[in-house]
Amino acid sequence: MRIIEPHAHMASRTHQDYAAMAAAGIEVVIEPAFWQGTNKKHAGSHFDYFEHISNFEPIRAAEYGIQHFCCIGLNPKECQDKAVVDEVIEGMARWLDGPTCVAVGEIGFDQTDKVEEEVFIRQLLLAEERKMPVLIHTSHIDKRPSVERMVQIIDELGVTQQRILIDHNFEDTIELTLGLEVWAGLTVYPWTKLTPERAVNIIEQYGPDRMIVNGAPDWGYSDPLSVPKTAVEMRKRGFSPQKIHQVVWENPYNMFRQSDNFRIEGGPRA
Ligand SMILES: [Zn+2]
Repeated sequence: MRIIEPHAHMASRTHQDYAAMAAAGIEVVIEPAFWQGTNKKHAGSHFDYFEHISNFEPIRAAEYGIQHFCCIGLNPKECQDKAVVDEVIEGMARWLDGPTCVAVGEIGFDQTDKVEEEVFIRQLLLAEERKMPVLIHTSHIDKRPSVERMVQIIDELGVTQQRILIDHNFEDTIELTLGLEVWAGLTVYPWTKLTPERAVNIIEQYGPDRMIVNGAPDWGYSDPLSVPKTAVEMRKRGFSPQKIHQVVWENPYNMFRQSDNFRIEGGPRA
């Protein structure tokens, strides 16, 4: 089975993880820029990090036969220092133009305050202007009202919804997300997000169209094998191989191929 892991913070993971992911069928990894546990105090720290996920991780991944792409953006946890924010957004074009960058992201909400909204909107419009896909993080604090506000903003701005992936949905946000024409991300992550069982319950209830599963493995207690484990759960529940393939390969493939940089050996079929 061919698998895309469309959200993994590999800069926080080891070579053993790459090896295990490859052995489990993961052929493609997409790494969004995110918060590394402490706030970066300088724009240059963001740029060095963008450089790392753009150029170094693809080399590590290739050692295990994995194709590695990245998303470049300013995440909501690092939106409050206006001087740094301005410098990063003004300077990020160099990495957005890079040959391995396939999206703007991850952008979104944490506290869902006015400052985050402004930075979110700036980057959404930047992606629209550049016709790039967008990976959106949803808050872990009061998720539903935060997603309501996000959906309202996306709708009002009139940006291209087919290029947007709203990630980390729960049972209580999936209908809001599917109410737009965006892709819906389900993150299988120990304790704070979904289990494979809960993710498959959602896929069972709403069908596999526009559903994209990821593990979002990072420096926390997380699992780089979440996507293959969810595929196993789908198989146990009697989903056809075609439906499983749609969720773990075709859907993320179709979302990210909207970037010209997303060139995959073998295309959308198994
Ligand atoms: Zn993430």
